[in-house]
Amino acid sequence: MKLIIMGPQGSGKGTQAQLLAEHYGIVHVAAGDLFRQHIAEKTAIGAIAAKLINNGKMVPDKVTDRMIKERIEEEDADEGWILDGYPRNLHQAEYLDQDNPPDAVIMLDVPESVSIARITKRRVCSKCQGVYGIVVQPKKPGICDKCGGKLVHRDDDKPEAIKRRLEYYHEETDPLIEYYKPRDIVYRINGDRDVDAIFEEITRILG
Ligand SMILES: [Zn+2]
Repeated sequence: MKLIIMGPQGSGKGTQAQLLAEHYGIVHVAAGDLFRQHIAEKTAIGAIAAKLINNGKMVPDKVTDRMIKERIEEEDADEGWILDGYPRNLHQAEYLDQDNPPDAVIMLDVPESVSIARITKRRVCSKCQGVYGIVVQPKKPGICDKCGGKLVHRDDDKPEAIKRRLEYYHEETDPLIEYYKPRDIVYRINGDRDVDAIFEEITRILG
């Protein structure tokens, strides 16, 4: 099973991707996490990515493409994968199609007001970067469960910044939806519901 999940920030896409990966015994490949992992492990890809990111530059498609291809062709991904944060543009989608065309594209739709409401509630641990929000709440308000660090409201999680990111998200995603549409593999799911209801609908569709 080869899946792509898309959705704006605050759509709960990461949570659904995790649940689907467990349910189907496939690997959850989050592009952002994979970059962080390469950087932490100081791989060749990590070195290139770190240098570009530190200089405020975008990682070129060919680097991202290679990283994703290597990951989804590893042995533990034999049963399939769910991609989260990739592909981000038409070039990447075409690249993926060469050897690993997706079976389904799950699109989690949430109204902008819901995205904003969810993200503005988000708090991040100032020590370990653990994320808390509506689904995962800290046991003690304002304190990280894992390390006891102080939870902070990042500037990135304030409404103006979120609106800019949502605009960018649509610029990037709308052409991808058009790209996959003729194959009849795009499933638009109402993401403005609780986690279980969304999960249930997706698994019913995918079987
Ligand atoms: Zn922490």
